[in-house]
Amino acid sequence: MKRSITAVFLIATAACSQSGAARAQDNAQPPQPQSAVAGACAPLARIDSTSLLRDLERLAHDSMAGRLIGSPGAIKARDYLAARFDAVGLETPSAGRLQRIPVSSQRLPNVDAAWNVLGIVRGTARPERWIVITAHYDHVGIGRPLDGDSIYNGSDDNASGASALAVMGQYFKENPLGRSILFAAVDGEERGMWGSRGLVESLPMPIETVDLNINLDMVYRNERQELYAAGPGRYPQLTAVVEAVQPCAPVRLMMGHDTPAAGPGNDWTGQSDHAAFHAKGIPFLYFGVEDHPDYHRPGDHAERAMPGFYVNAVRTIIETARRFDAR
Ligand SMILES: [Zn+2]
Repeated sequence: MKRSITAVFLIATAACSQSGAARAQDNAQPPQPQSAVAGACAPLARIDSTSLLRDLERLAHDSMAGRLIGSPGAIKARDYLAARFDAVGLETPSAGRLQRIPVSSQRLPNVDAAWNVLGIVRGTARPERWIVITAHYDHVGIGRPLDGDSIYNGSDDNASGASALAVMGQYFKENPLGRSILFAAVDGEERGMWGSRGLVESLPMPIETVDLNINLDMVYRNERQELYAAGPGRYPQLTAVVEAVQPCAPVRLMMGHDTPAAGPGNDWTGQSDHAAFHAKGIPFLYFGVEDHPDYHRPGDHAERAMPGFYVNAVRTIIETARRFDAR
């Protein structure tokens, strides 16, 4: 995800005044107290947290060298995710597990393709309607050294989201929704959202059958236990879905960061792969946390994860998909 303006803005407001910091949050809507509607909560999903954390470590390992689009590290990450999709039994689309997206850009002179990894779980009641769950697996590779480290591991950004796809796939394979789900680990987000822009142009189903994009980008740490579900500001029909999950969520599920009212750089609508779906008029829910000190720095290492928050964030996202599907 690209949020350098946000980071600068938040640091600036924090340094200036309390009211400035509050202004950055004007659009944020915190959840109601748990007690308000707790009776309506079904048990949350149980997920394979061991696999989740193991996949995170693998994708964020130095051997993947920051997973820059077109690099050997990104190919390694692609193949790792494809093997995981195989292992949890996600159906392979008729055109294949790997989707090649042609890349032609002067900014990427040595890159001719982005690679998406796709898997399907068929719905039970309305299999012809779809939810597409995306997370980018690429990051920015090797760059300017900081504190003697030049590998930008991109652990939260976005090994966290990509790793969640496989365990969510495993969960939904065992507990399918009414709608079908396409899981897509997408490439090249950091260098122009090549994977997601290519995906919406060549979906394995008619685009008009896609009811929702759920996008994960940076979901594993927040000191305040806050996870944002951005999108309802653009698609008001999603507000009730998030509101139904809020009192049941084991994290502080927030709305906001999805309209110009959030302030300069704080509207995340265009800042990750959900933008490609939004551009096609497909409603999105983007799940992510606010920037942290390791954002786009070599220190974005797997050991900075907050495992409890991470697991609960993924369970919250699953619950949101279930609530959406049930409406
Ligand atoms: Zn990202």
